[in-house]
Amino acid sequence: MIELEGKSVFSGVAIGPIAVFVKGDTTVRRESIDDPEAEIARYHEAKEKAKDQLQVLYEKALKEVGEESAFLFQSHQMMLDDLDYVEGVENIIRTQKTNAEYAVATTGDNMAELFAMMDDAYMKERAADVKDITNRVVGILSGAGATGMNATEPSILLADDLAPSETVQLDKSLVLSFVTRHGSTNSHTAILARTMNIPALIGVDYPEDVEGKMAIVDGAIGKILIDPDEATLSSYRKKKEEEEKKAALLQELKGKENVTKDGRKINLYANIGGVKDVASVLENDAGGIGLFRSEFLYLESDGYPTEEEQFTAYKKVAELMAGKKVIIRTLDIGADKQVDYFELDKEENPALGYRAIRICLTRQDVFKTQLRAIYRASHYGNIAIMFPMIISLDEVKKCKNMAELVQRELDAEEIPYGDVELGIMIETPAAVMISDELAKEVDFFSVGTNDLTQYTLAIDRQNPKLDDFYDSHHPAILKMLKMIVDNAHAGGAWAGICGELGADVSLTEEFLRMGFDELSVSPSMILRVREAVRNTDLS
Ligand code: PEP
Ligand code: MG
Repeated sequence: MIELEGKSVFSGVAIGPIAVFVKGDTTVRRESIDDPEAEIARYHEAKEKAKDQLQVLYEKALKEVGEESAFLFQSHQMMLDDLDYVEGVENIIRTQKTNAEYAVATTGDNMAELFAMMDDAYMKERAADVKDITNRVVGILSGAGATGMNATEPSILLADDLAPSETVQLDKSLVLSFVTRHGSTNSHTAILARTMNIPALIGVDYPEDVEGKMAIVDGAIGKILIDPDEATLSSYRKKKEEEEKKAALLQELKGKENVTKDGRKINLYANIGGVKDVASVLENDAGGIGLFRSEFLYLESDGYPTEEEQFTAYKKVAELMAGKKVIIRTLDIGADKQVDYFELDKEENPALGYRAIRICLTRQDVFKTQLRAIYRASHYGNIAIMFPMIISLDEVKKCKNMAELVQRELDAEEIPYGDVELGIMIETPAAVMISDELAKEVDFFSVGTNDLTQYTLAIDRQNPKLDDFYDSHHPAILKMLKMIVDNAHAGGAWAGICGELGADVSLTEEFLRMGFDELSVSPSMILRVREAVRNTDLS
């Protein structure tokens, strides 16, 4: 048995086989070649190999899921032999004297774009297939392999590190726990683990040859046990059962109010990254959604999500929440949340860089598309909007102007929309210091303690070496929280917390005493925070 230590970012016990996350280098470089015919032969060899791989997948799928689903792999084989595709690749290699990887990637991009532009829904969907076969051939040519995990049953996922763009592609139903070598307590992988209610560890230096081995993750003590003996396994199975019993006890709090012993009430909302998280919001009896990280719609997509696509997603969430508040945060990309098609420049200090509202205010096309989608969806539920990374009154006014412009457009087009509250995230010290003025401009504040702590303590939330310095209970933060809530109320706005600190039950009483109106936490934390509220007596 190998016993390794790490830092726990979410507790709980997971037992299952290990699946190691593989990162393929998918960047394609353009290189000049001298012998185009030899390069074309190399391409054909890779194409045949790709077809062989697909044949294996076809036969496996045929056995496991049946003819209809297996057919996809056959159609991919046919696409690889499509004459337009093959001639496109050969032509680029011959005329531009470039390497096969570049020729395949370019042909794939061109054809995918062509399909995506077609009106026919079926043909549009073929764009994804072209990308898929292209990646397969490029992977074989460059020897990189595909990015992802090779698991067919629920597994403990081991990874060097996971970027938000990689976690969105994971089949979450197959992940029992996250264990990473790098990453920090406040990274989005940690946030995802909390949302999924599964144990997660960071800073674990695991050996290379562990794929498929049985393992136990103990989030409470920050350990992973690889190849455990029978006695250890059976004691952990018991521990897991006890945890499940405790979780069942919490279930009894469903349907109960978030009220202290002396009668003070607070709203408990949930944080989500997409439509699929709504199930766990409802399951955990949240009173609303306090933070919909809308950037995940952009991260999941290969190109700018259209107004229609966004409208469909927001409308679905609003409808599923059936009149309960849904606060949609406008696009917050940049820093660790990179989206290739935005083609953002590499920056010296990405956390202090071109991100969030700074992108929206300079890319008004992107901003307007998103606001139109949100306003249209507001007709179907109780939607509010909040803007991230605000540092000035001027930014808030510009955001409000854009919201007004969108409403005027919709009026002219006779498209209905609801009453939409407008709020801002308070996640920069600048916003805290002018929160008295900001409060007069908006309906609500939601404190992003993850970034507020990063910017106040001058500590990169992504840097694991600094985890011990990242003191989320720092008196500066607690003083700021009090100042924010007082200024909000004086200016006629309500105030909540949607950063991870909101779920810290050791502070629940303090948040209530400060006067916060709302806490928005991972769905899995709702009932635990409700329990803490109900055990509090402020009198
Ligand atoms: C925060 O900064 O606290 C926050 C809620 O936003 P994110 O974690 O997505 O940056
Ligand atoms: Mg933030």
